[in-house]
Amino acid sequence: PTAMREIFLEPPRVRWSDIGGQEEVKQRLREAVEWPLTHPEAFSRLGGAPRKGLLLYGPPGCSKTLTAKALATEAGLNFMAVKGAELFNMYLGESERAVREVFRKARAASPSIIFFDEIDALSASRDDSGGGGGGGGGKANVLTTLLNEMDGIEVLKGVTILAATNRPELIDPALLRPGRLDTILYVGPPDLPAREQILQIKTGKMSISTDVDLSHLAEATEGFSGAEVVSICDEAIHYAMRESFSIEVVCARHFEAALEKAVPQITAAMCE
Ligand code: ATP
Repeated sequence: PTAMREIFLEPPRVRWSDIGGQEEVKQRLREAVEWPLTHPEAFSRLGGAPRKGLLLYGPPGCSKTLTAKALATEAGLNFMAVKGAELFNMYLGESERAVREVFRKARAASPSIIFFDEIDALSASRDDSGGGGGGGGGKANVLTTLLNEMDGIEVLKGVTILAATNRPELIDPALLRPGRLDTILYVGPPDLPAREQILQIKTGKMSISTDVDLSHLAEATEGFSGAEVVSICDEAIHYAMRESFSIEVVCARHFEAALEKAVPQITAAMCE
């Protein structure tokens, strides 16, 4: 595999309005990342120092990735995504090179965001036997490279690091020190109004019958992640099509059938 395959600069297209709920997370990110860029005078007058790195944590499928992309779009930042685990499917030395390369690209593309998904995969404390890692001692080396790169970013140079994890307890503490990922935000499962918003956003792109009651569906999806709420809608489309290829709209009965089959995966242990 080539090291650069996993690193890509993509024009982010997600808007804040594409994300249901999570108002506090959206606001905190705006303040920490957008304000220093859009209001630098006020910020420095008040003695603010921009955040270099932020960590988003919370159960799977609850909009961490979506949030990172929306922040990039709304703040006008270039967006680079790297998955922690993918850094280890590389040959000896390539992972370190890939990390340096992503920072180089991000500096060249600044103002920019580097999004490290599954950052827990880079923890030295994690079992190193899971293959990859350049054959041995890989994780510690990659982590060291990452820490060096983070420390090397001068504040105000316009590169912000956003990292995400479902397993905050596995994060190497070195990553969380001041000047690194020192702002930590919990991205939890959607509450009732958020689930209704997610359903509105998703069904807004579907053809649905007037008998579909979104507030009822929001109630019925208690404990679901955002991704699971969205997948109820996708499943409902399948139920409708199974009935007939000439069906015009997805109806309440299709959503009900999808709900009946759904097995939500989030457990209390994954949440705050
Ligand atoms: P993972 O930890 O599994 O990577 P994540 O927290 O990064 O998950 P996302 O990838 O952002 O989650 O979300 C997965 C999908 O779920 C999104 O592409 C979107 O379709 C849907 N989704 C999740 N949360 C929301 C939300 N709050 N509003 C709208 N869509 C959502």
